[in-house]
Amino acid sequence: MHKAKTPVLVIGGGIAGLSLASRIAGDTGVILLEAENELGYHTSSRSARQLIPSYGPPAVQDLTVRTLALIRELEADLPEPILVPRAFMLVGTEEDVRDRASGHMYPVTIAEAAALAPELGTGTFEAAGLDTTSVSCNTDILLDWHRARIESSGGRILTGRRVDSASRTGDGLWTVTAGGESFTAEIVVNAAGAWADPVAALFGVRERGLQPYRRTAAIVEAGNPPAADGPMVASAEDTFYYRPDLEGVLISPSEAVPSPAEDARHRPEDIAELISLVNSLTGLELGRTVRAWTGLRTEAADGLPVVGFDDAVPGFYWLAGQGGYGFQTSSGIAEFAAARLLGRDPVLDVSGALSPARTGL
Ligand SMILES: Cc1cc2nc3c(=O)[nH]c(=O)nc-3n(C[C@H](O)[C@H](O)[C@H](O)COP(=O)(O)OP(=O)(O)OC[C@H]3O[C@@H](n4cnc5c(N)ncnc54)[C@H](O)[C@@H]3O)c2cc1C
Repeated sequence: MHKAKTPVLVIGGGIAGLSLASRIAGDTGVILLEAENELGYHTSSRSARQLIPSYGPPAVQDLTVRTLALIRELEADLPEPILVPRAFMLVGTEEDVRDRASGHMYPVTIAEAAALAPELGTGTFEAAGLDTTSVSCNTDILLDWHRARIESSGGRILTGRRVDSASRTGDGLWTVTAGGESFTAEIVVNAAGAWADPVAALFGVRERGLQPYRRTAAIVEAGNPPAADGPMVASAEDTFYYRPDLEGVLISPSEAVPSPAEDARHRPEDIAELISLVNSLTGLELGRTVRAWTGLRTEAADGLPVVGFDDAVPGFYWLAGQGGYGFQTSSGIAEFAAARLLGRDPVLDVSGALSPARTGL
């Protein structure tokens, strides 16, 4: 096993950086640097918390299945499970649903769909597909499990440390500064989410065209709420999704609007428009917004994560571009990346599909 001479430096304290750091801590030294004063402040605290094996391109689907298996293993350490079964149902035109209903998703009749989600008007969609392997995840507990594992394995987590400069010393080590402190590392992992390209540029690494896209979600009260164990329902045309929530209904307009890397804020008019759309298509009778938020989903041009050593700059490891799949692929990607960093054989080899050197990036 390769043992780095210096702690591996992980930049970013979202689900990507935390899950990788928790995977390698114990086998090698690790220091995680997070710019904000708390972990998971950006996209990782703003998700819909759903893991959907039928969602995404094939490599993402494989990583999702692997992630579910790995999270089920770590649930043994927890007082209660963090994965709760919640089917995922896609509704839309025959053509749109047929295109996406494969693998873990199978077609269901309109009558079956209406029995699962009676709030859906049967006249509003032509076809439905169902993924019964999908689960909701308590992502707060997952993030905290990783934090605790890093710390109990001797890793260090430093918040309020924005990496703002990097240089290479004669012996090939990186010198990185963050929050006025200086760190030395043989290997740096770029898990900076929406800031992954600007962070790469700091290290003199070619950017990969990683684009952040806004996505909004809200918890809204409903006059006629769906069953607590009802499915997450999404339009195949990506115009909305909703699912039951303890405080009401979680809804999203499923938008993907390009954004600079920033602390994204929701626009109340987007929520108002969405409530009116969902009310026109369902009997949910959505009303008052309990809370709303916007996060950034950051993607490469081909929609696949960018994971692996940079092909031109030694000691720089990409862990970025997780888009809308960051939680559902987290443990699978961390397991793969840890194997690569520690010189082991990965269980699931996604090196070709996710390579930072692939065509088009
Ligand atoms: C509305 C919405 C719904 C979603 N729903 C789901 C879902 O149901 N299932 C799912 O799997 N995914 C979902 N996602 C996507 C998922 O949330 C993301 O893929 C995931 O959180 C990305 O994690 P990350 O660690 O890469 O990024 P982040 O959580 O953004 O973490 C990156 C961190 O890097 C830090 N950083 C940046 N620059 C520096 C620097 N220079 N120095 C130090 N630190 C730095 C940032 O402060 C940040 O904390 C959703 C996203 C949104 C917005």
